[in-house]
Amino acid sequence: MLTQAPKGTKDVLPTEIYKWQALEKMMRTEAELAGFREVRTPVFEHTELFLRSIGDTTDVVQKEMYTFKDKGDRSITLKPEGTAGAARAFLEGRLVSDALPCKMYYINNPIFRYENPQAGRLREHHQFGIECYGAKDASADADVITVAYRFFKKLGVKNLTVKINSIGCPECRKAYLETLRGFMHEHEGKLCETCHTRLERNPMRILDCKSPICQQEVKDAPAMLDMLCDECKEHFECLKSLLEELEIPYVIDSRIVRGLDYYTRTVFELITQTEKGELTICGGGRYDKLVEELGGPATCAVGFGMGIERVLMLVEQEGIEIPKPRTLDVYVTIQTPEAKLPAFKLCQQLREIGLKADCDHNSRSLKVQFKFADKTGAPITVVIGQDELRNGLVKSRDMVSRDEELFYIGEAAGKIAEQLADIDAEQCGTDY
Ligand SMILES: [Zn+2]
Ligand SMILES: [Zn+2]
Repeated sequence: MLTQAPKGTKDVLPTEIYKWQALEKMMRTEAELAGFREVRTPVFEHTELFLRSIGDTTDVVQKEMYTFKDKGDRSITLKPEGTAGAARAFLEGRLVSDALPCKMYYINNPIFRYENPQAGRLREHHQFGIECYGAKDASADADVITVAYRFFKKLGVKNLTVKINSIGCPECRKAYLETLRGFMHEHEGKLCETCHTRLERNPMRILDCKSPICQQEVKDAPAMLDMLCDECKEHFECLKSLLEELEIPYVIDSRIVRGLDYYTRTVFELITQTEKGELTICGGGRYDKLVEELGGPATCAVGFGMGIERVLMLVEQEGIEIPKPRTLDVYVTIQTPEAKLPAFKLCQQLREIGLKADCDHNSRSLKVQFKFADKTGAPITVVIGQDELRNGLVKSRDMVSRDEELFYIGEAAGKIAEQLADIDAEQCGTDY
């Protein structure tokens, strides 16, 4: 129990953190190139925030939230998604009265959902997302889509497709929902239990029900796209032509409705083909009603979220190579007790000039120290033994060629840095 993480959670160990750090760096770069700045919001919020924003008919709110009373008897919920918290911060931080659009991204945002853990779906997972507030044109939708698209392209993901749909605005959706309800009533007998409860309050959710029987039943359901009002239609047409101009491959999929209530107009997913079929790797859309729903002034918004664990899963599946940085550049071995202080000082000097360096902290035998040095992947091992000490020298060994050089201890750090630069240049040379 004590040494086992709770079900549906996962550690990221130092041995694999470099993959996360590499992805995070790429995500930040793409977001910041498009003018997004980072926002960090708390892990928990008042439960009411999610009831208002996500809507109480969704699976997320009904079954999956981590909700509890704190000691002050307040109902608190661990974030089940990233958008509501960011919207709350946008309002509370009065960013709404700043210059708009306000472009924000969040990274490594922990998301909590009480679901049965399965591949790429954890009870605690982490998201990268971007949000653009106060931009109404379809170019803002295209802007958001391109950030995600460029990220996956640069990562090296193959077979990338953007699926888009429009779910209209509250005005044109009203008539559509009536038509849809009529259709669903005709098929009521065959729909799954969950979809029965969706029929009155949220019939669009039936369209993306996972049950194969429901999927079969809704195949010929009326599509929102056929009933868009003029403004919504124009917005969608404009988005399509922008994606075409940018040569971003897209398909229209009227089954995408997104699970959350606050979406309006554009909804989209990025998908890739894997051996097991389609994999959704990013989802987003426009949610022009969210800020108003939270008590703020009418402010349109568009964004996306992607699960970082899922991106990592994709990296594994596609065999995308993420270069592993070495733990240390230099390991300083200590042969005699008198060498301990000079070795320790040399490490500090090496760090001072930007080299990753460490020495033995266990008074171990030289053999064990070399073994350890090997495990760190340090290309240089320094030896300070009796002879070297007597002459004020250190011996610096290239671990690949086994070449050794002697340096005066006073200038060792700088010389070792030069030696390392030569080793790195040589290795690059053999690569090409
Ligand atoms: Zn409309
Ligand atoms: Zn169903």
